Amino acid sequence: MLEGRRPHFIGGAWREPAEGAWFPTYDPADGSVLAEVARGGEADVAAAVAAARAAFPAWADRFGAERGRILWDIARRIRAEAEALAALETRNTGKPLRQARADVEVAARYFEFYAGAADKWGGRTIPVPSPFLDYTLREPLGVCAEIIPWNYPLQIGARAIAAPLAVGNTVVLKPAEEAPLTVLELARIAAEAGVPPGVLNVVAGYGPEAGAALARNPGIDHLTFTGSVEVGREVMAAAARNIVPVLLELGGKSPNVVFPSADLERAIPIIANAVVQNAGQTCSAGSRLLVHRAVHDEVVERLAAHFRRLSVGPGLADPDVGPLISAAQYARVRGFLEQAEREGVRVRADTPVPAAGWFVPPTVLDGVAPASVLFREEIFGPVVAVTPFADEEEAVRLANGTPYGLVAAVWTRDLGQGHRVARRIRAGQVFLNAYGAGGGVEMPFGGFGQSGFGRQKGLEALEHYTQVKNVAVWWGD
Ligand code: ADP
Repeated sequence: MLEGRRPHFIGGAWREPAEGAWFPTYDPADGSVLAEVARGGEADVAAAVAAARAAFPAWADRFGAERGRILWDIARRIRAEAEALAALETRNTGKPLRQARADVEVAARYFEFYAGAADKWGGRTIPVPSPFLDYTLREPLGVCAEIIPWNYPLQIGARAIAAPLAVGNTVVLKPAEEAPLTVLELARIAAEAGVPPGVLNVVAGYGPEAGAALARNPGIDHLTFTGSVEVGREVMAAAARNIVPVLLELGGKSPNVVFPSADLERAIPIIANAVVQNAGQTCSAGSRLLVHRAVHDEVVERLAAHFRRLSVGPGLADPDVGPLISAAQYARVRGFLEQAEREGVRVRADTPVPAAGWFVPPTVLDGVAPASVLFREEIFGPVVAVTPFADEEEAVRLANGTPYGLVAAVWTRDLGQGHRVARRIRAGQVFLNAYGAGGGVEMPFGGFGQSGFGRQKGLEALEHYTQVKNVAVWWGD
């Protein structure tokens, strides 16, 4: 065990769990225990919410530029510790080192981006008949609860902190039990940069314990959840009891749509990366590939050839693809691959993988029917479901043929076709001749349908983290 015991971070200090319980967090490369982490419950969450509530008025009252200055300093400190943070992220999530390094950079960018916005986010004046002056204020909400997943702890943790803090809220953050270690480091770095006690609190623990306690706590003013549809439904119901606004970013089954005029030389490596980045454990992964029949065979051959050349191994060896996060996730992905065999789908998975461990080779499932679960459900592994189409109409129908709508990409040299299809696809982000999984700090990100609602990233996130107050002034005598 390398990290020892990691307590909660509440009210500006490390806090042992109220009930004295700890849980192990693992290194997915070999299944060994990395650290014992505080197992939060009702009392820890209550303490964190109370600390956040106490800290709120003074933090909200600060001039935005002052809050921004602290966030800039967090970004600087993240970069100064980049190598150590990346190594810890790799050890706790299994992701390749270069992906972890990219995640560190994105985390720093979130703090910079929202630092820059902190003194520019305001209301407007509204024209009304004399003798009235009417204006709006954008006020912080109060205590923002943030429940995040294990796949990008640094990136998602950073945005869960930077956006609400920039505009004057305080935060209680619950990292995922699988990968809480770098999020606890972010709490330390934030305190060192001058974030006052109570403004940022991290309560670790299991979802049904610490997570559920946070979602139903009557002291929170906003809830942001990133994770599965099932849990999203539960936390939304919990928030409904307290009339707390929620922002949900759930799963996806995002398509790359390839037309015959596409520049395949450019497209293939990007489509491949959209599948294998983070071993496919990305909500915005390009997990479906819709290909025009005219180029179907060529695209599948080139993609399978690309996959064959990739390396799979432990994250610290910096391969192209690391292990899956856990035995449970590995079993789930294997289950989908067995389903593919049963359905008679052509499975292409030729990349060598280590003999033991939670490693899955990059896999092409060729000929997946639109009615199949392989077409509709999130697999969360380095697996892409390929389905051919005959024309633009069918391409759009297939692209929209799942309950999700997070991201999509259209590959074509026909400009009109690109824009036309972008308009018709139901997804929160559409890329033309590109695919961005992860990153994209500046771009609003969120879902249609069961991918959730509300937008994180970009300036749009700040709309969720503030509420509008209208002030009407009579200035006649
Ligand atoms: P994933 O499928 O990515 O593991 P989950 O939805 O299970 O996603 O988990 C995302 C986050 O939600 C994690 O921090 C997890 O601990 C938390 N969580 C899981 N179950 C609950 C719950 N019942 N209430 C609140 N949070 C939960």
